[in-house]
Amino acid sequence: MGLFMLEPSFRDPNRISRRTATLGVVALAALLTACGGSDGDASTNAGATATLAVLETTDLHFNVRSYDYFKLADDKSYGFERTATLVRAARKEFANTLLVDNGDTIQGTALADYEATINPIPCTQQLSMYKAMGALGFDAGTLGNHEFNYGLPFLNQVLGGGLDVDGVDATKKCAGAGYPAVLANVYSSKTKKPLVQPYTLLERTLVAKGTDGKEVKLPIKVGVIGFTTPGIMNWDKRYLEGKVYTEGAVEAATKYVPELRSKGADIVVALLHGGLDSAAYTATMENPGLYLSKVAGIDAMVMGHQHSVFPDTAATPAFSQAGVDNKAGTINGVPAVMASSWGKALGVIQLSLQWDGTKWAVNKAASKSELRNIQSKNAAGATVYVDPDATVAPLIETQHQAAIKYVKTPIGQTDFRMSTLFADVGDPGAIQIVNQAQQAYVAAYIKANLPQYAALPVLSVSAPFKSGFQGGADYTDVAVGPLAINNAADLYLYPNTVYAVKVNGGDIKNWLEAAAKRFNQIDPAKTGEQQLISTFPGYNYDMFTTADVQYEIDVTQPVGSRIKNLTYLGKPIDVAQEFVIATNNYRATSGKSFSDKLDGSGTIWASPDANRDVVVDYIRKNPAVTRAANGAAKSWRFTKVATAGPVVFSSGANALPVAQAAGLANVSLLAADDGSGKGTSKYRLDLSK
Ligand code: MN
Ligand code: MG
Repeated sequence: MGLFMLEPSFRDPNRISRRTATLGVVALAALLTACGGSDGDASTNAGATATLAVLETTDLHFNVRSYDYFKLADDKSYGFERTATLVRAARKEFANTLLVDNGDTIQGTALADYEATINPIPCTQQLSMYKAMGALGFDAGTLGNHEFNYGLPFLNQVLGGGLDVDGVDATKKCAGAGYPAVLANVYSSKTKKPLVQPYTLLERTLVAKGTDGKEVKLPIKVGVIGFTTPGIMNWDKRYLEGKVYTEGAVEAATKYVPELRSKGADIVVALLHGGLDSAAYTATMENPGLYLSKVAGIDAMVMGHQHSVFPDTAATPAFSQAGVDNKAGTINGVPAVMASSWGKALGVIQLSLQWDGTKWAVNKAASKSELRNIQSKNAAGATVYVDPDATVAPLIETQHQAAIKYVKTPIGQTDFRMSTLFADVGDPGAIQIVNQAQQAYVAAYIKANLPQYAALPVLSVSAPFKSGFQGGADYTDVAVGPLAINNAADLYLYPNTVYAVKVNGGDIKNWLEAAAKRFNQIDPAKTGEQQLISTFPGYNYDMFTTADVQYEIDVTQPVGSRIKNLTYLGKPIDVAQEFVIATNNYRATSGKSFSDKLDGSGTIWASPDANRDVVVDYIRKNPAVTRAANGAAKSWRFTKVATAGPVVFSSGANALPVAQAAGLANVSLLAADDGSGKGTSKYRLDLSK
C-alpha cells in the first residue's frame, strides 16, 4: 500500500541512517566499489561486527503525556514523553538503533476518544500519538487489537490511506502514522491480500567495526514483519465481520518470512502484538509467542498485548514457560522483549551482527535483551522517574487541553450522592451502576456473539474499590448534579477490563463466602466494642446489587459459613445452575481463592474494554442517573442478631447523612474523630435492626 513514511522533523545523528531516495543500494554499492579499497568497500570487510539495538514501545494506548485524564492529574509512572527520554539515551549509547512500535497505539485515553469520535482529527493532521512519536522518528510498527476499535475507515485515515476493503476509500491520502505499518495476518476479504503491507524491508547503513578495529559503514536490509491478535474478529466484530479475516501468526510467518529473506533481508524482526501462552497452538491463539519464535528466519521478536514484561529479573518472573529464558532474554533462543504498557518501559534488544562480506547474520547467543523502566528506586529507596522529553508535550498541547475540556463535559446527571462511604454496611449507591453497566455489556455481547451461552442468566459483581484504606478521603464520592467522563474514574478506580466467567450456584456461594472475609467474626456475647471491618481489602468485597439475587451475611459465623438464604429469583439458588458473571480481568484470572473457576478456567469472554469505559458508555445511554434506578438495589443484608456490645466501623468524617440517604437506619455516629489520625469518624452498626 502507499504508505510512505514522512521524514521525522527530528533526526538523531546516531540513528542508523536512512538511504536517500536518490542513492539506492545498488548505486551506493557501485560508488563504494569504484572508490576501491576504502573502508567502505563491503567486500573487504568480511568479519566486521556491529550491534543493532532494536528499541520497542508497545501498548502505548495513546498515553503521550504522563497524565491521567480521569483524575485530571499528572501521573509520572507512565507516558511516552518519558519513554522518549529513554529512546534518546539509547540512541546516544548505541551507534545503530531501530525504533519500533508494537501496536495498541491509537486507543486508550480520553485524548484518543476525543480525536477519534468527539472531534475527529482531520485527514490532513496526524493523530497526536503519531505526532508525538514523530518527534522521535519510528522505523516501523504493527497494529494491535485496539487499532480496530474505531472502525476501518478511521484506521484507513490515520494510517494515511490504502486500506482496500469494503466500506473504505482506499484512495484517500491522509497524514498517516509517520512510519510504515506492517501486519501479516489480517487480510481484506475484498482483495484476499493483507490489509496493510505484511512487512517492510528497511535499507539502512550500520556503523560497524572492521576486523582491523576501525569503524566501517556497511549496508543492511532489515525486514520487519507484524502480527496481531486474531481476537479482533470477536472484539470488533461489528466493524470487521465480512470485511477482513485473520490467519494465525505462525501460518503468516511461515508464508512471509521466507519471502522477506528472498527479497534480501539480512535480518528479520517480528513485531508480535501478542505474548506468551503455553497452551497448544491454534490459528486463533491470542498469545502465540512461544510458537512464533520457532518459525525459521526470525532473528528477534518484540511482544506486547499482555501489558506484561520480558525479560523479567524478579524472583517470580511474569513468564516462566518452557523455552522462556529470563536471564538470556530469549524465547526458544530468539532474543525478545515485552515492554510493559503505556510507555512505562522501553524494550531493548541488542542484536550482535556479523558481516560475511555480502550480508549480515545475527549471533543470537551473543545478543541480549532488557527492559529500561521510566520508574526506579534510588539509593535511598525513594521512587524516581525519568524526566519527560521536553519536545513531546508542546507538540500536542492544544489537543491535550481540548481532551481535558472534553472529559469535564457532562454525559449525564445524578440525583443522589454516589458514594462508597457505607458500601461495607449495605449502601449500593456507587456500585450498582457499575454492575448495571457490566451486566448490560456482557449480556449484549453474549447475545450477539456467544449463542452457546445465550440461555444462561447474566449477573454482575463489583466492589467498593475505594473504601477508606488511605483514610477518610479514600472513598468514591460523586456529588449530586452533572456526571462527567472523569467521574467514571471515581466510580471505577482501576484500569481493569471486563471479563465474563461461567460459574454455577455453588461457585457463587463460594465467591460470596470469600468476599465476606471483609468482616471480622463478631461475638454477640461480648460486651466490649468490636470492629466490623477486617484487613481484607475493600476492592475484594465483591457484591451483587440486584433484586434477582438475595443473601444474608452472618458475621457471627466463621469465614466460609456466613452466606445464608442465598436465593435467585426468590428461590434457594440451585448449586448446579449455571450463570455468567460479569467481573474484571483481575478477579477472573487470579481469583482462585474465591472460586476454583476464577483462575482463568471459567472465563468465557475476556473483553478488550475497560470496565471504566463500559461505565462511561452506560451513563451516556442512561444519562438520568437516579437513586431509585441506579443506587438502591440491595442484594444482601447482615443477618439480624442482638449484640451485647457495640459493633463499630470507621468511615469518612461526619458522613452519617449519606448512610441515612441510603436508608441505612441501623448506622449511627459514635465519634466524629475515631482517633486514627486518618480523617475518619467512628460509626456504630446495630446488627439487631
Ligand atoms: Mn494493549
Ligand atoms: Mg492488545
